[in-house]
Amino acid sequence: MSETVYVGLGGNLQDPERHLQNAFDDLASLPHTRLLAHSSLYGSAPVGYTNQPDFINAVAMISTELEPEPLLDALLAIELRHGRRRDFPNSPRTLDLDILLYGERILATERLTVPHPRMGERAFVLLPLQELSPQLMIPGVGLVSDKAAQCHDQRVSVLKP
Ligand code: AMP
Repeated sequence: MSETVYVGLGGNLQDPERHLQNAFDDLASLPHTRLLAHSSLYGSAPVGYTNQPDFINAVAMISTELEPEPLLDALLAIELRHGRRRDFPNSPRTLDLDILLYGERILATERLTVPHPRMGERAFVLLPLQELSPQLMIPGVGLVSDKAAQCHDQRVSVLKP
């Protein structure tokens, strides 16, 4: 059975726009997976460790038969192919891929927390997600459009429709 999954994309190193555009193709090429839509590219101020370039962010909506952990493994493999390194939390990166929502499932395993823990308060996730599915409900959090309206103080803007 296939599920609709929302994947968050972000990067701020080595031409991040190119990494994100290529990552849409990588998602479309995953086995048993279709890319249904992706948002515009957004620019956002770094969160946490702020002494680094602005980020490019987007959200992709896929339909996949991959179960959550195999999907996570596939996303980590895509990150690695894009030269992703893990230096320290919130450090600059070429490409970060997160499972935001996996159908309506709520998961809390050693490797996966879904819905993604901080997605309900981050404009760089909520604005691209709102572009795709404003009426979407984030389980345990609320409606995407309501949450997006609550974080207008964060610096995020559309770069490329
Ligand atoms: P990072 O790339 O720094 O965001 O961290 C990636 C790690 O976070 C992965 O290896 C996962 O085990 C863990 N993780 C927990 N929940 C999620 C999620 N919803 N999506 C992606 N990674 C997650």
